[in-house]
Amino acid sequence: MDHTIDDIPADALAFNPHVAALPPYNAGMNIAVARSISGRADIARLASNENPDGCSPAVLAALSSPALEPWRYADPACTALRAALGRKLDVAPDTIVVGNGSEEMIAAVSRAMLVPGSRVATVVPSFGLHEIEPLAQGAEVVKVPMTADLAFDLDALERSIAAGPRIVFLSSPWNPVGPALDRSSLERLIAAVRPGTLFVLDEAYFEFADATCPDGLKILRESGVAFVVLRTFSKAYGLAGLRVGYAVCCNAELARVITAAKTPFNVNAAAQAAAIAALGDEAWMLASVERLRGERQRVAITLQGLGFTVAPSQTNFLFFDCGGDSASLAAVLLRQGIIVKAWREKGYERYLRVTIGTAAENDHFMSALGQVTRR
Ligand SMILES: *Cc1c(COP(=O)(O)O)cnc(C)c1O
Repeated sequence: MDHTIDDIPADALAFNPHVAALPPYNAGMNIAVARSISGRADIARLASNENPDGCSPAVLAALSSPALEPWRYADPACTALRAALGRKLDVAPDTIVVGNGSEEMIAAVSRAMLVPGSRVATVVPSFGLHEIEPLAQGAEVVKVPMTADLAFDLDALERSIAAGPRIVFLSSPWNPVGPALDRSSLERLIAAVRPGTLFVLDEAYFEFADATCPDGLKILRESGVAFVVLRTFSKAYGLAGLRVGYAVCCNAELARVITAAKTPFNVNAAAQAAAIAALGDEAWMLASVERLRGERQRVAITLQGLGFTVAPSQTNFLFFDCGGDSASLAAVLLRQGIIVKAWREKGYERYLRVTIGTAAENDHFMSALGQVTRR
């Protein structure tokens, strides 16, 4: 007799209750779905903060090189990539852990540090995984809301950090809002850290920030607090589909425990080769960032001209109050072939996040938005 999944009694499955209760991750919409909804081929995919310029030709060459041997297990220690990163950042390679995207490092840090009942501090609106991964470990997540003028609430954050959570997760530049902590604000928050707290600074958008923004890694290294700085090849370097990011840790012992918390062959051979090639062609990345910052300025001015309140951005996206439910606006834009991210966290449903695309994609977005607001 054939059994189906529906025959399995509910009580036959004993889930980890922390994992079973997790909210879903709100990922950007798939391009094929957007094509079928809009009936258009030219989709402007502006929901996932990818690099619309692609990636360096040196990366494509490395991916088609005979030196890449897909039939072999890749180096589980990412030795060559960690050496290259160590030179670039002037840190010891044994303090670096490479992940299957920096997302995996958020999970590994959470596994390494948290037990059920541990407390974690972060902000809201937030990068979903800064909450989801701690919740998966049974931690309690305390979230500090942004201020009315779309900035970090430094007083509240300082109190929340001084209360001694096991981990503080902050992204700066801040996804989804956009601003970065300036040097004195970052130093103030670091000064509030007590022994027993790990300060995790997620710098996924580091490369897009102004020269006036601080290098969080430098400041944390001089601070004497326990820290992890997260960076990624997904955004400015344009390798989102390959999944490679990394954690720089305050010492080798923390890196060892985070390594123990990840899967052994987490970073595949193509990702390792691509990341090394990308580091070898920083000129490509810098030119792309320069262009995207110019486009960011152009889109921000247009949004403001349409009457929207836009958060200041040090990233490759803009976050703005669309004046009503952002999901309805996102649905209207989708019918015109534009994918944006309507924010769904409670209290922030009026906000929309749009990634800076190519000039043509940005024009497409701005003209569609202009038509909607004129109605
Ligand atoms: C995009 C993003 C990441 C994820 O990067 P991957 O390296 O692709 O996993 C991490 N943190 C923040 C804040 C991000 O916006």
